[in-house]
Amino acid sequence: MLLLENVSVKYGAIEAIRGINMEIKVGSVVCLIGANGAGKSTTVNTIAGLVRNQGGKIFYCGEDISRWETYKRIEAGIAISMEGRRIFPDQTVYDNLLLGGYTRRKKMRELRRDIDQIMDKLPILKEKANQLAGTLSGGQQQILAIARALIAKPKLLLLDEPSLGLAPILIKEVYKIIKDLHSEGMTILLVEQFAQYAFSISDYVYVLEHGKIVLEGKPEDIKDDPRLTSAYLGE
Ligand code: ATP
Repeated sequence: MLLLENVSVKYGAIEAIRGINMEIKVGSVVCLIGANGAGKSTTVNTIAGLVRNQGGKIFYCGEDISRWETYKRIEAGIAISMEGRRIFPDQTVYDNLLLGGYTRRKKMRELRRDIDQIMDKLPILKEKANQLAGTLSGGQQQILAIARALIAKPKLLLLDEPSLGLAPILIKEVYKIIKDLHSEGMTILLVEQFAQYAFSISDYVYVLEHGKIVLEGKPEDIKDDPRLTSAYLGE
């Protein structure tokens, strides 16, 4: 579904990612692990078109999308839930979901029906539909951020650090949702710094260090590699 070929991104003189090659197969969960500043957000933001790659190519469903605007990538089925959740705290939960359907705004009735369906699946959002999103707990806000990305009806879901800042019990809740999405056939790129949970549900893992992929493989094949230090997996 997605292929990154030798992708590089610079911010001025800073080389954030350097010649990255990655592949995400249809229906798989791929995990990108890396420390603070390794280039994880740059990678997902580049796939979403929020950041431009100066080198290399990005192929999505066989097409080179490297020069596509973000809205076109969203319409083609790429959705991103950005690091730090980025919900609109002063809008209701329902309105946050509506905003997730911005590219589908011309078909409002269909959009509202899909929002109802997603709220049926994630009852906490239904319960809090008319509450301001800023009043939700961190875990609930993360669930809202994922739901908002789903409203765009993605084929490829990019999740940037969904466990960031959450207590372990809430991480489990969020990961249950990610697992369910996977079993329904969603293709997911999961970016994490501490990856105990992500590792356990991923089909394939890439480890990023200083903007380069230093290790990749199936979780069972690389789990004992010393480069996958306890910093990423905990003990
Ligand atoms: P974190 O977990 O802290 O978000 P990350 O792995 O997602 O880290 P990036 O945010 O992609 O890493 O950052 C990679 C490098 O690029 C870092 O050195 C960072 O300081 C730099 N960087 C990121 N965004 C910008 C920007 N807008 N302008 C300049 N430098 C940036």
